[in-house]
Amino acid sequence: MAERPPVVPDVERALEVLRSRFDPRTAAFLNSCVRCGLCADTCHVFLADGEAASAPAHKVERLGRLFRRYHTVLGRLAPSFVGARDVDGETLEALAAAAFGRCTLCGRCALNCSVGLDPAAIIRFARTVLVAAGMVPRGIRANADLAIATGNNMGISREDVLETVAWLEQDLRDTLGDDTVEMPVDRAGARVLYALNPREVKFFPLSLSAAAAIFHVGKESWTLTSTDFDITNYGYFAADADAARAIAGRLAARAEELGVDFVVAELLAHQLLGRLEIAEAALQRGEVFEAALVSAVLSRHLLRRLLVVPEVGGAHALLEGGDLPGQARGVKDSSAASSGVRNTP
Ligand code: SF4
Ligand code: SF4
Repeated sequence: MAERPPVVPDVERALEVLRSRFDPRTAAFLNSCVRCGLCADTCHVFLADGEAASAPAHKVERLGRLFRRYHTVLGRLAPSFVGARDVDGETLEALAAAAFGRCTLCGRCALNCSVGLDPAAIIRFARTVLVAAGMVPRGIRANADLAIATGNNMGISREDVLETVAWLEQDLRDTLGDDTVEMPVDRAGARVLYALNPREVKFFPLSLSAAAAIFHVGKESWTLTSTDFDITNYGYFAADADAARAIAGRLAARAEELGVDFVVAELLAHQLLGRLEIAEAALQRGEVFEAALVSAVLSRHLLRRLLVVPEVGGAHALLEGGDLPGQARGVKDSSAASSGVRNTP
């Protein structure tokens, strides 16, 4: 196989973003870290490899040294005195290794910060700088591009979706002994659109059946869509706002076409992140586009007789739509510790 040419970082563009888009919130976080190291206890990357470079504060410092160089007086006048570094190929490589290579933006570190900071928000900003530098890892870039081009990050065709749903529906009918069970696809006017992680279709179809069973028991008016169903958002994951909006926009447009009231998704971290991008996508009729959790639907229709424990706990399970207006560029940081109110329909 031919070797790929190495990526040449666009240093000028990275510098431009670092200079012009550094928001006060990120700057405050960088200035307030007391380097206590407590956040390391919650970082799954650090817990897995035990390397100092994987500790959240260490990753944050990769951006901090660039921040000090261009945004502080001492950093401009005597950079080595405050450990400030120029933006160049070497520092951008180090930033990429920290922000992409050692962080999943899960947000757990924010839960353990002794002074209430959000390291993932800083790391996310670092990714924004790296997007400008053209240093998004190939795998993430490829997933985002495929989602923009096909409507889902695995390039699953409409025919494959229809075929999978057809056998799942029959299987569910057999399992429940109930021929009225439906897995509707592309049903205009349904109340709920159940959006999917493409991996559900490809590798975990029984999670789709489980959702269908829940909707059936709850007598929910719902539908799947055979196209543009992807609730994941690798554009958001990469901190590439343009790609994130393009991906979210496809699902938002599909929801508009079908005329649903809610998009429901299982709880997975970047599925929720994706839905927040959906909320931001410009909708033609200017409607507030609301997403709901399966658990919320359950509690409403099953009179609280069932309890669904979110798959991912912590901050991600607690995001609320009302947080959106206050976020930089309208995008909720992946890790932001929320006020703990669930988004209910
Ligand atoms: S966001 Fe998650 S992976 Fe990244 S530093 Fe924090 S705990 Fe670790
Ligand atoms: S817990 Fe907070 S203050 Fe302490 S090192 Fe981590 S980010 Fe900095």
